[in-house]
Amino acid sequence: MRDESRQLVVAVDGPSGSGKSTISRRVAQALDARYLDTGAMYRAVTFAVLRDGVDLRDADKITAVAEGLRLGIGTDPLDPHISVDGIAADREIRGPEVTRAVSAVSAVPAVRALLVAQQRAIIAASVRIVVEGRDIGTVVAPDADLKVYLTASADERARRRSSENAASHAATAADLARRDRLDSTRAADPLRRADDAVVLDTTALGIDEVVERLQRMLEKVTA
Ligand code: C5P
Repeated sequence: MRDESRQLVVAVDGPSGSGKSTISRRVAQALDARYLDTGAMYRAVTFAVLRDGVDLRDADKITAVAEGLRLGIGTDPLDPHISVDGIAADREIRGPEVTRAVSAVSAVPAVRALLVAQQRAIIAASVRIVVEGRDIGTVVAPDADLKVYLTASADERARRRSSENAASHAATAADLARRDRLDSTRAADPLRRADDAVVLDTTALGIDEVVERLQRMLEKVTA
């Protein structure tokens, strides 16, 4: 029997298009848990950096924007939300300008320190939570009850992403490859599989199948 009062943290990491968001939200719903999309937080800071016309090479100015920002984060897996200084930014943070610039902003160590602290506070305030990102199992929540690292072939990831936006397959594949490279090679908290993470290749798996597998793993860790 699961002890309902015990905290449960599930960390889901992996590159873009590996299925993290869809799967994390579904698992959170099944667990009646909160859902935290840490990528949305990096995107929200990037949105503000572009809004303020800051040079993407100026780490000090980027940090100042991040420090002066009021992020509102809604963690309902059925309806996650993000606001910047009180204004909803859910649509804006998914636009091509933010997607192009986000890896430069997320590589700034002071921005990461600020957002990681906010992410840890949200996790600490939740009884059950599924957290998705790039450094959740390694940095944000190294003591998570279950760590999952999702992967998929580069071709399949580009196919999934180009079906979500109007860009061509080739342009999406090039953008994903660029972001993967930047996110995996940056000095601060790069995308990396935690040594104790379960790796799941979702290339040939349906969403239901991945969710069921994770639920079975969770039954084991919470038994
Ligand atoms: O997950 P999503 O594609 O929305 O993330 C956008 C970007 O935010 C990533 O490409 C990465 O640069 C950054 N990110 C990060 N650490 C996280 C989550 C996202 O650096 N935990």
